[in-house]
Amino acid sequence: MAFDRSHAPELVIAARWVVPIEPRGVVLERHAVVIGGGQILALLPAAEIERRFPGIPIVDRPDHVLLPGLVNGHTHAAMTLFRGLADDLSLDAWLRDHIWPAETRWVSEEFVRDGTRLAMLEMIRGGTTCANDMYFFPEVAAGLAIEHGFRLCVGLILLDIPTVWAASSDEYFSKGLEIHDQYRGHPLVQTIFAPHAPYSVGDRPLERLRLLADEIGISVHTHLHETASEIEQSMSATGDRPLARLNRLGLVTSTLSAAHMTQLLPQEIALCAERRVSIVHCAESNLKLASGCCPAWELDQTGVNVALGTDGAASNNDLDMFGEMRTAALLAKLVAGDSRALPAATALQMATLNGARALGLGDRIGSLIPGKCADIIAVNLAHPATSPVNNVISQLVYSANCDQVTDSWIAGQPVLTNGNATTIDERDVLRRADAWRQRLIGA
Ligand SMILES: [Zn+2]
Repeated sequence: MAFDRSHAPELVIAARWVVPIEPRGVVLERHAVVIGGGQILALLPAAEIERRFPGIPIVDRPDHVLLPGLVNGHTHAAMTLFRGLADDLSLDAWLRDHIWPAETRWVSEEFVRDGTRLAMLEMIRGGTTCANDMYFFPEVAAGLAIEHGFRLCVGLILLDIPTVWAASSDEYFSKGLEIHDQYRGHPLVQTIFAPHAPYSVGDRPLERLRLLADEIGISVHTHLHETASEIEQSMSATGDRPLARLNRLGLVTSTLSAAHMTQLLPQEIALCAERRVSIVHCAESNLKLASGCCPAWELDQTGVNVALGTDGAASNNDLDMFGEMRTAALLAKLVAGDSRALPAATALQMATLNGARALGLGDRIGSLIPGKCADIIAVNLAHPATSPVNNVISQLVYSANCDQVTDSWIAGQPVLTNGNATTIDERDVLRRADAWRQRLIGA
């Protein structure tokens, strides 16, 4: 048993099963995780706890499985307030006729604060402990992550057009760099450059971004190859497909994570594998907007790191990573015409360790091994939907729903206990969301 002695043991969480993710597919029965200093110190049989760690507080979850918190690789947290506002539309019509006008009218610091808090509550309740957020007022999201003990990768948004957050390319960069400086080395918040998409950011700002990303050592996240029309527009405007254009600008590297990627040629898949690009598969958002389908299984088999993301709740319409795992696994089988494609253990790894790797956090979170942060969730499998527990990993991916998450710890701190959020005032969040409904649709 590996044991990390850098911190004194403070808490033990014991459960019927533990799925550490590394090694893939392993299920440990009646094991416990020892935590200290916000980190995982050891993983060992529960029967050894009393003898080895006498007097340490034990949280016992006898019907549950412990696993690393889920990592939502791509979302727009504040857009949760737009949930259900415009459905059953193409991406173009959804974005240009509904979402962008609504954002112009409503987005403010207050909107971002209330929407992001609602998103964090939904994610915490659903077993997500880390998210990659791309939206305006990222400094507000960063502050909320710290206030509520949530792990957040804060996208430093970049667009060509002026918005409520920044009037020019210079202002996007200066505000983004200020946020980066403020949170550099923070245990819960990290920054990532987030150019919105190739069609909304020109060559010069992307060149500047690449130089800065190299200089200060942060990753880049963007929407990429989301729809066929994005490819067509890029071909007529620049003569290149968007990935080729980013490659020409030096951005196709191991620090790039690209959301969507529904349109990929064989040589583009090979390029992503060769450059070790991460791809964030947003299956439900792509399905709902009929954008296309990311070849997640083929990418995985080619050696590409594939993570999962919900996208914003305005196009999904939830932030449920259990739903994403199941959809990704089922969709891959249909697309491949092969029921062996994207098995449950792979889906679970995509929602945890691969998500962590996509955000440059693979050495800190995403699996339950000593030395990593104690980002852990407990899922109660004593539930009609998951009984009998013939196969723990299968039940987690194909049967469980996110309401079966009972407990969650982030960096060893409880954020959900017996189904109740401990760091967010749920009633206040829901009351504010309803006040926004009244403003948005005037009801
Ligand atoms: Zn998105």
